Amino acid sequence: MFLTVQDLTVQYRGRERPAVQSVSLALKAGEIGVLIGPSGCGKTTLLRAVAGLEPVASGRIQLAGEWVSQAGQSVAPEHRRMGMVFQDYALFPHLDVARNVAFGLGQTPKAQRAERVAEVLALVGLNGSERRYPHELSGGQQQRVALARALAPQPRLLLLDEPFSNLDVELRERLAHEVRAILKRSGTTALFVTHDQLEAFAIGDAIGVMHDGRLHQWDDAYNLYHRPATRFVADFIGHGVFTPASLQQVGDQLVVHTPLGEFTDPGHHPRSGGFVGGDFDLLLRADDIVHDDHAPVKAEIVRKAFRGSEFLYTLRLRSGETVMAHVPSHHDHKVGEWIGIRAEVDHIVTFERHGPAPAPF
Ligand code: ADP
Ligand code: MG
Repeated sequence: MFLTVQDLTVQYRGRERPAVQSVSLALKAGEIGVLIGPSGCGKTTLLRAVAGLEPVASGRIQLAGEWVSQAGQSVAPEHRRMGMVFQDYALFPHLDVARNVAFGLGQTPKAQRAERVAEVLALVGLNGSERRYPHELSGGQQQRVALARALAPQPRLLLLDEPFSNLDVELRERLAHEVRAILKRSGTTALFVTHDQLEAFAIGDAIGVMHDGRLHQWDDAYNLYHRPATRFVADFIGHGVFTPASLQQVGDQLVVHTPLGEFTDPGHHPRSGGFVGGDFDLLLRADDIVHDDHAPVKAEIVRKAFRGSEFLYTLRLRSGETVMAHVPSHHDHKVGEWIGIRAEVDHIVTFERHGPAPAPF
C-alpha cells in the first residue's frame, strides 16, 4: 500500500471526544480515495493529520514505505511531498497563472520551471493560459489552476478538501469527472474530501463514510450502496428507508415478510441468515420499489421530486409505513394519488430492529 492509515486517533486539546477515532484505511499508488460524511465528522482533521498538520494521539500513518506520523513523532509537512487543494486556497490575485502555478517549484531552474508549468497547464486543459490573471478566469478554471499548482512539484500524495464547494452543483459534477481524469492521467495518488455523494461517486476508487470521528466503511461505491456496513451508511448513501420485516425458512427458501408483501430472499446478503424466524429492519431503496398498476399493494404519494428521467416518490402504505420509489418520469402522478407498487429487491440488507447502530467493524 502507498498510503496506510492505521488505527488513527486525533484529539484536539480541551475536547472531550477525539475528532478522529481509530480510523484505518489504505490506498494503492495511483488510487483516489474519498472521505465523505456530514459536517463536523472529522474529514478535515483526518486530512490534516495525513498532511502532518495535526499531531496524532495514537495509531500511525505510512507514506511510500515510511512511517511519517505516530504519537510523539512526526515528519514535518514540508518533508512529506504532499500537494494540497482547499476550498479557500485562493490563487494569488496579483500573479499571473504561470507564476501561480510555479509557486511551489522553488529552486527549479527557470527554463525547466516554464516547461513544467506548460506541462501541468496542459494536463488540466488550460494550455497557453500562462499570462492570464485569476480574475480573467471562471471559478472552475481557477480551481483547475489551483490543481495545476498543487500538481506541479509532483507530490507523492495530493490532498483535496472540498475544493469545489464554492462552485455551483452542475459545474461541480463536471469538474469531479475532469479531476478524476487528470489525476488518473498523471498517476497521482489522492485523498479527496467532500460532503457530496455525486462527487464522491464520480471521483473515488475507494470511498470512506465517516460519522462522529469514525470511519464506518471504506469500500467502493457499489458496496456502499448495496452492502452498507452500518445503519448510518445505509441511511447516508442513496435514498432509502428502513421497514420492519421478518424472515421465515420455508423448505430451503428464505421468505421475507414486509408491509409490501412477501418475497423470497435471493440470498445475496450474508446478514439475512442471522435473523431467521426473527424480526429486523429491512433497507428498502428507492430502486427496490417498482411502480406497477397491477400490483395488489397500493400506496399514497405524499411527496414527489423531479429528477430528470425519473421522479423520486415518497409513498405511504395503508399500514402507515413510508417507502420511496424511483419511477420513470412519464408516470407523472399527483401528490395524494394512490398507485400500485411492488418490491423487487436484489440485495437484502437487514439491521437489528430499532437496535443501536452496529459498531463499525
Ligand atoms: P469536517 O471536516 O468533517 O467538517 P472537522 O475535521 O473540521 O470536520 O472537525 C471535526 C471535529 O473537530 C468537530 O467537532 C470540530 O468542531 C472539531 N475541531 C476541528 N478543528 C478543531 C480545532 N482546531 N480545535 C478544536 N476542535 C476542532
Ligand atoms: Mg472540513
